[in-house]
Amino acid sequence: MTADSSIGSAFEVGSQDREERVQALLSSIPLADETTPLAAQLAEDTRRRVSLQGLQFQRPESTRIITVANQKGGVGKTTTTVNLAASLAQGGLNVLVIDSDPQGNASTALGVDHRSGIPSIYDVLVNEEPLSYAVAQCPDFESLLVVPATIDLSGAEIELVSLVSRETRLRRAVDEYVKERAEQGLPRLDYVLVDCPPSLGLLTVNAFVTGREVLIPIQCEYYALEGLSQLLKTIQMIQSHLNRDLHVSTILLTMYDARTNLAQQVAKEVRDHFGSQTLATTIPRSVRISEAPSYGQTVVSYEPTSTGALAYRQAAFELTQNASAQ
Ligand code: ATP
Ligand code: MG
Repeated sequence: MTADSSIGSAFEVGSQDREERVQALLSSIPLADETTPLAAQLAEDTRRRVSLQGLQFQRPESTRIITVANQKGGVGKTTTTVNLAASLAQGGLNVLVIDSDPQGNASTALGVDHRSGIPSIYDVLVNEEPLSYAVAQCPDFESLLVVPATIDLSGAEIELVSLVSRETRLRRAVDEYVKERAEQGLPRLDYVLVDCPPSLGLLTVNAFVTGREVLIPIQCEYYALEGLSQLLKTIQMIQSHLNRDLHVSTILLTMYDARTNLAQQVAKEVRDHFGSQTLATTIPRSVRISEAPSYGQTVVSYEPTSTGALAYRQAAFELTQNASAQ
C-alpha cells in the first residue's frame, strides 16, 4: 500500500473520527531532522497532506472581500490569488475571483476564456454591466467563479478618468452581485479575491475601494520592502477618503528559499514589522507552481500533493482561521 492510499483510506470514515485518525497518522510521521533539508521537507509535506486531506474549511460570518495588491511586479499576486482561491474552493467554500489586471493572468491560470470582446471586468467597469454578466465558471472547481480580464481592460485606466464615480464602480458591482445572489437563493459567496495589476492606478484604486481587506504578497528578495511604504500610504489614503473599512489583514511571503540567508533576512524583517498580519506559512519557490498556468490550471488542481500546492492550501487554511482580520 502506498503512503497516499493509506492516507486516503484513513478518511473513508465519518467526519467525527477524522480528527482522531489525523492525530494518529500525524504522530506516526517522524519528526523532521534539521540536518537533512530534503527529509525535513518530505516530513512537512506529509504532515500537511494528512492534516489537509478532506478538511472542510470554516465559513466566515459574512463574505470576506480581499484585494491582493502590491505595485511591485512579479511578486506573486496572481499566483497567490488563484491558488488561495482554488484551495478555499477545495475546502468547500464558495469563491469568486475578479481579475482586474489587463494581462489576464488570473483568468489564464483558472482556465477561463479571456479573448478580447468576451464579457469581462471591462464591461463592468466601463459599461456598467452587472457583475453577473461577466461571471464565468472555473472548470476545475465547482464552487469557484471568475470574472475574467481581457486586453480591453488596458484602455480602462484612461477611459475611467472621465467617468462618474470612477473609483467606486467595482465596489457597487460587487455589492449588487452579492445582493442579487441572495435574492435568487444562490449560495452566499464566502470569499471574493481581487487580483490587481502592478500599479497604483484606477484599477487598483477600484479594487481597494471594493475590498475590506488587503493581502500583500511579498517576494523574499532584496528589493522586497522597497515601495512597501508607498503602498501602505496609498492604502491609508483610500481608507481616509473612500473606504473606512480597508486594512492590511494579511501578508504572505512568497518564493521563499530557506537555503538563502537573504530570504531568511527578508522574512525576519517582514515579521518584525508586521508580525500579526504575516501568515506563518510561507510559499516556497517551486517549479510546479510556475508551470501550472501553462496548463490553464492552478497548482492545487495540477499537482495537489506537491510542496507548492500544499503550502498554498495550508496558507488558505490559515487565512480562514484568521477571524479577527475580518
Ligand atoms: P504582475 O505584477 O505581473 O501581475 P504578479 O505579482 O501577479 O505579477 P505572478 O504572475 O504571480 O506575479 O508571478 C510572477 C512569476 O513568478 C510567474 O512566472 C509565476 O509563475 C512565478 N512564480 C510565482 N510564485 C512562484 C513560486 N512560489 N515559485 C516559482 N515561481 C513562482
Ligand atoms: Mg499578476
